[in-house]
Amino acid sequence: MTERIQEFLRHRRAEGRDTEPCLVVDLDVVRENYFAFATALPDSRVFYAVKANPAPEVLALLASLGSCFDTASVAEIEMALAAGATADRISYGNTIKKERDIARAFALGIRLFAVDSTAEVEKIARVAPGARVFCRILYDCAGAEWPLSRKFGCDPEMAVEVLDLAKRLGLEAHGISFHVGSQQRKVKAWDRALAMAVTVFRDCAERGINLAMVNLGGGFPTRYLKDVPPVVQYGRSIFRALRKHFGNQIPETIIEPGRGMVGNAGVIEAEVVLISKKSDEDEVRWVYLDIGKFGGLAETMDESIRYPIRTAHDGAEMAPCVLAGPTCDSADVMYEKVPYMLPVTLEIGDKVLIEGTGAYTSTYASVAFNGFNPLKSYHI
Ligand SMILES: *Cc1c(COP(=O)(O)O)cnc(C)c1O
Repeated sequence: MTERIQEFLRHRRAEGRDTEPCLVVDLDVVRENYFAFATALPDSRVFYAVKANPAPEVLALLASLGSCFDTASVAEIEMALAAGATADRISYGNTIKKERDIARAFALGIRLFAVDSTAEVEKIARVAPGARVFCRILYDCAGAEWPLSRKFGCDPEMAVEVLDLAKRLGLEAHGISFHVGSQQRKVKAWDRALAMAVTVFRDCAERGINLAMVNLGGGFPTRYLKDVPPVVQYGRSIFRALRKHFGNQIPETIIEPGRGMVGNAGVIEAEVVLISKKSDEDEVRWVYLDIGKFGGLAETMDESIRYPIRTAHDGAEMAPCVLAGPTCDSADVMYEKVPYMLPVTLEIGDKVLIEGTGAYTSTYASVAFNGFNPLKSYHI
């Protein structure tokens, strides 16, 4: 929570514009985060994962600082271009693309594409001749609080086949990628992934395919309720792992931070709509906010991400609460299995501040479920 955000919220309240929840992102914090990544991993190019927060202000700032962009759709590519990035600084990192979208991206100048299957390689070879591809390998994401499952990537053995086909079809087999899972709190998570990466490099070399690049993905955490290691520790650990596995032939590397770039830059101000109990004996109060899973807090799914929540009563006695959103869907409950501690003096109408919400909130908000507006956001 920065002084600039506090100031912004004070004005908003004074002007009576605080009728709906809103997200406020401090761009100074995004700038600091960018430099922290660039310093901690000086030999890696930064490809900001646009999906984490695609606000034009964030993209323009990062473009001006020299960042590259990892995109997942033609719309995201166009947003990065509009923000001032040139096409050679944009990757199309989604492994699941329509052939006509690959063609659009190619026409816009994009030459770097992610794949994890031979079918995707065939699409790219048809409509993006000569482009560079990197193959994503599966990783089990142990230690991540928001794991990415088996949806993306293939086994290392299959990656060799995929890259081999790419070469035979006239594409440039450029390298491999992986993602160690989002909100990865273990700095050593990259070590095992790089051990897998080096085997793909070797097997490819035996077939005469010389890979040049390892995309280290995202996964860098934001501080929520628990402490997380600073980015310099990730940098050191990743460099050690690169040395260990690649010796003095360290390939070109890129990182794709999303959450770690913008998460701690944002705060959501919300309002308590109702506090109630389900019976007189009930020990747990239900606290309903004017924001929930459909208003931008989708990452509370399975109670994975636990945001720090601040109130004007902090310091008072705390009691366990079920925290829920305002919509008429019973899935719109954020924390119930593990109740959330909130001050007993909290009242209906109070404002609360939900911290660490700069990533994966504004674009997760539904369009108008139950008539609630999408989350308003301000980037200052
Ligand atoms: C979402 C995503 C990222 C960003 O992940 P974070 O954990 O938010 O850093 C990076 N790369 C790819 C391919 C992604 O899909």
